[in-house]
Amino acid sequence: MATRKADVLIIGGSSIGLNCAYYLLKSGRQVTIIEANEIARGNASGNAGHIVPSHIIPLAAPGTIGNALRWMLNPKTSPFGMKVSLDPKYLWWLIRFALACSEANVQRAIPPLNSLGQLSARNFSQIIVEENFYCHYQEKGLLFLYKTVKAFEGAKREAELMRRHGIPAEILDKAALHEREPAAQDDVLGGVHFTGDAHLNPALFLKLLGERVRLMGAEVFEHTPVTGFDVTGGKIRTIKTSAGDFEANEIVLAAGAWTPLVARDLKLNIPVQPARGYSLTMSATQAMPRHALLLGERSVAISPMGDLLRLTGRLELSDIDRTVSAKQLAGIERATREYVHLDEKLNIHETWAGLRPTTPDGMPIIGRSPRHNNLVIATGHAMLGLSLGPGTGQVVAELVNGQETAFDLSPLRVGRF
Ligand SMILES: Cc1cc2nc3c(=O)[nH]c(=O)nc-3n(C[C@H](O)[C@H](O)[C@H](O)COP(=O)(O)OP(=O)(O)OC[C@H]3O[C@@H](n4cnc5c(N)ncnc54)[C@H](O)[C@@H]3O)c2cc1C
Repeated sequence: MATRKADVLIIGGSSIGLNCAYYLLKSGRQVTIIEANEIARGNASGNAGHIVPSHIIPLAAPGTIGNALRWMLNPKTSPFGMKVSLDPKYLWWLIRFALACSEANVQRAIPPLNSLGQLSARNFSQIIVEENFYCHYQEKGLLFLYKTVKAFEGAKREAELMRRHGIPAEILDKAALHEREPAAQDDVLGGVHFTGDAHLNPALFLKLLGERVRLMGAEVFEHTPVTGFDVTGGKIRTIKTSAGDFEANEIVLAAGAWTPLVARDLKLNIPVQPARGYSLTMSATQAMPRHALLLGERSVAISPMGDLLRLTGRLELSDIDRTVSAKQLAGIERATREYVHLDEKLNIHETWAGLRPTTPDGMPIIGRSPRHNNLVIATGHAMLGLSLGPGTGQVVAELVNGQETAFDLSPLRVGRF
């Protein structure tokens, strides 16, 4: 079979890969997407659809480990879980994560997460308007709900910190909260409203983005896993796939939780650990929430999407395994009922599990490979891979084109681990 030629070849056609394709095509490059399954399906289609520039505090922060251990004492309600394994790579990841749970890591992560979040939020609203995408996009903010004084007080302190970084946050006492969100249960005692956030239906958005990049000229190979690479002289010469070999001027690796597996020939340290989560999508309920919600003490996300309502939750350090757990979905539904009014009988449309690509320091990995002069890596967006997609697409296009990037990418560089 003859080797095919590409200008920019993108591996992975989900949130990050499609956004990179969009901005590269806009900049005048030719794009080829290689996707193991179908584009726009990946691990983003069933997610909560939250676009959250307010999320500037990384997962690796003081208090995360204490919370995780406390939660795990009660497995029935815990929003967190982890596999037990002696795999040295997994143990190394856990140790690096534990070491990163520090104030210094939070201070290091805030500037790049803030810049990427703001850029992405601006790009989202521009794409939605310019491309005329109908995907239930709503700029109504993200509303956190609290049932305990302790958690609400902590949230107020966090909101103050975020305000100092330019994130709009409104603190709502009980009366104001219930006026703003009538779907809340009576004993919800307050909330914090991050009014600069938004939400949408991620499956619709990605489907439209996939169609758009095809119309712009992207060549798309679906059901075509990348199986390896030939490298000589610091350059990837061949990308091997199930449909034959490719050569490319530039390669963008955006394979989410699979990135370390795809990159195994490349002698790079890309510590991306899958973290599974679940979602439950149903017909609109009678007391449909008006806002995208986050249940403070339970870490469950709620997303009204037109005539659908989606509940998402759990973060389980796992293998590459997208098996849906009925037990975990029942826990997510139970937690939701504690905070908002749900119909007694739900009309379920879809149950889903997806993998978040998580890094030990809670920041994405975006940058050129230190060993290959034609490879850019864009992965590790963890719980923000939808939210940070359009900003990542823009800066990856800038990197590939040798332009100055919209903000300093050095804290996100590939070789930092
Ligand atoms: C329950 C849940 C809720 C979430 N909620 C939100 C949210 O509200 N907001 C938000 O921003 N994020 C959210 N996320 C996180 C978000 O979904 C992920 O960060 C995002 O999917 C990562 O995008 P990605 O493109 O990097 O990777 P993925 O979506 O995992 O896509 C990787 C792609 O690479 C392909 N691939 C793998 N191997 C190969 C290969 N060998 N060759 C070619 N292609 C390959 C895969 O098939 C896949 O299509 C949530 C995640 C979960 C699980």
